[in-house]
Amino acid sequence: MSMKIARLNTRLVHAGEPRPGIEGAVVLPVFQSSTYEFTGAESYHDIKYMRLNNTPNHIALQKKLAAVESAEAALVTASGMAAISTSLLTILSSGDHFLAQSSLYGGTHDLLVKDLGSYGISFDFIDADDADSWKQHLRSNTKAIYVETITNPTIEVGDLKGIAEFAKAHGLISMIDNTFASPVNFRPIEHGFDLSLHSCTKYINGHTDIVAGAVIGGSELVTRIKHKLDHLGGSLDTHACFLLHRGMKTLALRVRRQNESAQALAEFLEKHPSVEKVNYPGLKSNHSFQYAVDLLDGCGGMLSFELRGGLEAAERFTKRLTIPIIAPSLGGVETLVTIPATTSHSGLAPEERQRVGVSDGLIRVSVGIEDADDLLEDFQQALT
Ligand code: PLP
Repeated sequence: MSMKIARLNTRLVHAGEPRPGIEGAVVLPVFQSSTYEFTGAESYHDIKYMRLNNTPNHIALQKKLAAVESAEAALVTASGMAAISTSLLTILSSGDHFLAQSSLYGGTHDLLVKDLGSYGISFDFIDADDADSWKQHLRSNTKAIYVETITNPTIEVGDLKGIAEFAKAHGLISMIDNTFASPVNFRPIEHGFDLSLHSCTKYINGHTDIVAGAVIGGSELVTRIKHKLDHLGGSLDTHACFLLHRGMKTLALRVRRQNESAQALAEFLEKHPSVEKVNYPGLKSNHSFQYAVDLLDGCGGMLSFELRGGLEAAERFTKRLTIPIIAPSLGGVETLVTIPATTSHSGLAPEERQRVGVSDGLIRVSVGIEDADDLLEDFQQALT
């Protein structure tokens, strides 16, 4: 009888795995071979070679990624930025225009602002919550729309249902960076998006020990992106594939715990007198709350908050924490904190930072899988 792989945890553990295991191995070994015996591949892209993303490690991982987001196909890449840049350069050519959410991850923002112009690709920023701004910027050469499920560092959810419908109505390819939500909390293809992009460096791997990315969507589009990646060369090494594959098996266990701990921490902070504001879509007071309830299976492990007393208070607080590590990046098992005004957003002018909601005293937290009570006690003592 064939195995029934219906639900998320079962898919994470079993989807894509060779059965029977190779030489009976329960875990897929690392294929540390850059090339393979030629067996008559007819196309360049089908020759078995590590850069062409088709070793047994790539194939199993890609099948698992597609299965967890209910998609036809997936492609792993050398980093989240390789997934994003290769997808944009596949979908858009010289003379094309696209719409992009205004509050994007800094690396993506810089790619758009500093690099895409030199390829003859133009774009307009839109507010993911304001359908009028999408229509206003639509042009005859608009080809795609690009958003993020949960934005950084203000942790907002836009009108994602509206965006997917708008894209369909106007023949645009809808692309969404699903890194912050992870496939546990949101599966874009199920909600009508064409392409889901990930920095697997974050939740999907979850152990802060590799850099990787993924592109997930329909077979035809993912194959076009694979061919571009084959040329650009941003393929994932098989040892990193092995680690990512291992990390994925515990994704839902980790993320569901991170959802719970982040919710508890957000509720605690909201009540604390030293805290001015908490950004977390799981709070009833948050303006993204209704979108989160309608669209997400959980609100994720990312939150941010503002302390009374600005930057000085934020720096004093983060130095007093004993469990979280002050470091960029997110989505791992350990809790990390950053002050965006002095790190990820320090390159922005103060007025621009204000516009995107990054006050000097804003603290961003990537909640790990430690005991929530230990985190709450640590935050409590650091706020005192
Ligand atoms: N997308 C988001 C939302 C991110 O936070 C990041 C990195 O922080 C990236 C993409 C880029 O990923 P990578 O660092 O794996 O290239």
